[in-house]
Amino acid sequence: MKGFEYYAPHSLEEALSLLDNLREKAKVLAGGTDLIVQMKNGNARPAVIVDAKKIPELNRLEWNDDKSLYIGAAVSLSRIITCPPVMEKFGILYQACSIIGSMQLRNRGTVGGNICSAAPSADSAPPLLCLGAKAIVARPGGNRIVPLNSFFHGPGQTALAPNELLVGIEVPAPPTRSSGCYLRHTPRQDMDIAVVGVASFLVISKHKNLCQEARIALGAVAPTPLRVPQAESILAGGVLTEEAIEEAAEKAAEAARPISDIRGSAEYRKEIVKVLTRRTLKRAWETQSI
Ligand SMILES: Cc1cc2nc3c(=O)[nH]c(=O)nc-3n(C[C@H](O)[C@H](O)[C@H](O)COP(=O)(O)OP(=O)(O)OC[C@H]3O[C@@H](n4cnc5c(N)ncnc54)[C@H](O)[C@@H]3O)c2cc1C
Repeated sequence: MKGFEYYAPHSLEEALSLLDNLREKAKVLAGGTDLIVQMKNGNARPAVIVDAKKIPELNRLEWNDDKSLYIGAAVSLSRIITCPPVMEKFGILYQACSIIGSMQLRNRGTVGGNICSAAPSADSAPPLLCLGAKAIVARPGGNRIVPLNSFFHGPGQTALAPNELLVGIEVPAPPTRSSGCYLRHTPRQDMDIAVVGVASFLVISKHKNLCQEARIALGAVAPTPLRVPQAESILAGGVLTEEAIEEAAEKAAEAARPISDIRGSAEYRKEIVKVLTRRTLKRAWETQSI
């Protein structure tokens, strides 16, 4: 691995000042489960590493009075999946974070790093898109908020400028009578990245057991994770019949723009989008009805 300078700032100001001076020469390190691998295989060659783990704002994990969940960008996946409000209220996020890598990887890796790496297959992205999450981005002079649906710009590319840092992610509390499901397809059961990932999230109306709102997001089938409003609109305001689910699954597959690679052809990925859209919608509906 090429040599590099290492800084571990204890404040956001210090980190921002380093990034502002160094720009493209620096890379932020959270868990390092992605960045260190990239540095070892020569795909990333930062002259300077700015370790984010000692910055207090990035280490907070807070449930704010039933309004929102704040996940600091350096909070480990293990901490997230053992946090009671996440387990109780954010099932769809819990499901995704629990299957990322191995226990050792989850002890170091973060959701912040997962979304900043901007892999189309990032498992936390489809659930966070369904939940309407926002990225809190710090830059010299103040913070800005970026809705997650405009955070991803392409494989490995985000809305972050070189002198900006992801501070955390704010996730609004899910509406009452809502439920979600995230499933991914991987050739191996564990330690593999998604060939396709689908998150479905439903808000059920109180009186008639109708689907008030549907949110569906796909991973690994386009340059960025994406919501599929074409599929969502078919379900909103109706009962989730087999026909409606089938139509939504077809629309989701139409919206997917997968590539063919060693892990699966584009046609195969579109078929899997249909299968997982059906399954996640049914599971979300059944969980809610209990
Ligand atoms: C064996 C193995 C298995 C894996 N399995 C999965 C899997 O199942 N699912 C999955 O989605 N991923 C998987 N990954 C990829 C990776 O582990 C995850 O994406 C993880 O969540 C990355 O988090 P991290 O904290 O380690 O990120 P890091 O490696 O620290 O950083 C990743 C990128 O984000 C940038 N970054 C990090 N934090 C910030 C910040 N606060 N502000 C600005 N930029 C920042 C870094 O500069 C870097 O470019 C796997 C990786 C390995 C090696």
